Amino acid sequence: MGERITTRIGPRVVIIGGGIAGVEAALTIALGFPDARVTLVARSPVLTIAPNLVYVPFGVEEELVDVRLDVRLPQFGIKLLIGDVAGVDMSTSSASMSGGRTLSWDALVVAPGTVPNSAAGSRLRTLRDAVALRSQLEDLLDTQWRTSMAIRILPDSTWPAPAYELAFLTDAWLRSHDRREHVDLFVVTEDSAPFEFLGADPPPHVERELELRGISMVAGVPGARIEDIDADLTIDVGGLSAARVRGLHTAPDGFYATDEHCRMTNGAYVVGDAGSGRVKAAFVTAWQARRVLADLGGSLERLGTSTDGVPHDTVIYEMDLGGETLVVRLAADDLMIGAQLRPAEVSLEPAVPDKLRGLLTRALLLEGHEGSAAARLDQAFQVRRHLRLGPPPGS
Ligand SMILES: Cc1cc2nc3c(=O)[nH]c(=O)nc-3n(C[C@H](O)[C@H](O)[C@H](O)COP(=O)(O)OP(=O)(O)OC[C@H]3O[C@@H](n4cnc5c(N)ncnc54)[C@H](O)[C@@H]3O)c2cc1C
Repeated sequence: MGERITTRIGPRVVIIGGGIAGVEAALTIALGFPDARVTLVARSPVLTIAPNLVYVPFGVEEELVDVRLDVRLPQFGIKLLIGDVAGVDMSTSSASMSGGRTLSWDALVVAPGTVPNSAAGSRLRTLRDAVALRSQLEDLLDTQWRTSMAIRILPDSTWPAPAYELAFLTDAWLRSHDRREHVDLFVVTEDSAPFEFLGADPPPHVERELELRGISMVAGVPGARIEDIDADLTIDVGGLSAARVRGLHTAPDGFYATDEHCRMTNGAYVVGDAGSGRVKAAFVTAWQARRVLADLGGSLERLGTSTDGVPHDTVIYEMDLGGETLVVRLAADDLMIGAQLRPAEVSLEPAVPDKLRGLLTRALLLEGHEGSAAARLDQAFQVRRHLRLGPPPGS
């Protein structure tokens, strides 16, 4: 008699959303829990990343890196469905797609990202925003008079760091055009100090660097008053809430409430910007995906101990100060909701920022992508040359 073949059938995991968070969760679960049957529902077969978005307003050519999810994800045993999830039914653990198809799950991972609430200022979320901002900034160069530019961090900001990055880059760009002294540049925030989202004891580096460059902080503004503060050019950062998925409820702050395992309810998780975690950024999604994997009963050991040289107990964020890079290292566990943040390890480095380090998405999908990582870094070096950025006078 022949040997009996048994197949272990693991949980069906359905992931909603083909942005960085959904893709990172899919890769993490597929690698760390090979028995799981992972299905990712994405609106597009391509994940597009705009690594130079923040530089585009300053005249740098836009570069889009397209990752073919339909080609790459099946290589990791992940099934990709193209479409829209019209809604979920938690009582039957099923999702209905807009074409009428129904998907049943044992575990659901929700990663639909965010949508902007109304705000009066310009935005920097998409390439179109960046190109529009470029012509507004060029207008600042043409004006003979003294002008003002405000970057407003709206109270429901998911990730205020780009506001500071934009302020530093604007300062450097204006200096490179000999226009700095004609423009009053300020950041408006509810917080009493920059990077307060990192905890009660934020690193002093950003405040010091802002001072050095003459960028004013209008701090401690009540949330409801931030939009009353205006300038010749006003840019709004934040003012977002989670993209709604019918059948799921958001908390009053507009995001899906989760616990420290990114768990919304038993068997349903939220990763990425749509969740209630305190730091909402691409680099955090690696840590979130690992939390979900562990809670599902998958193996963290299968992922090894580091990705791209970033140990799995650490997350790294790098930000361009226009001439130098701020590198922030945080203990991953400190990102937990309610955790007491230990002071972040912060340093200033001469190299250009190295974004998305530590993500499987970058290590597995971007590094192997034709021309992507190397081209991106080259481009970033050109950016500094193009903008003629350097440390501010007197530093
Ligand atoms: C200017 C700027 C600079 C930034 N810089 C950095 C940085 O330097 N480092 C960093 O780590 N982060 C940075 N971020 C943040 C980072 O871009 C976001 O945290 C990240 O892209 C969020 O990913 P996400 O997958 O949660 O959301 P998204 O990228 O919005 O993806 C969600 C996806 O889900 C899809 N979707 C929604 N609803 C459904 C549905 N019902 N059915 C199917 N699909 C659905 C959407 O179409 C979308 O494709 C920056 C952000 C901005 C705006």
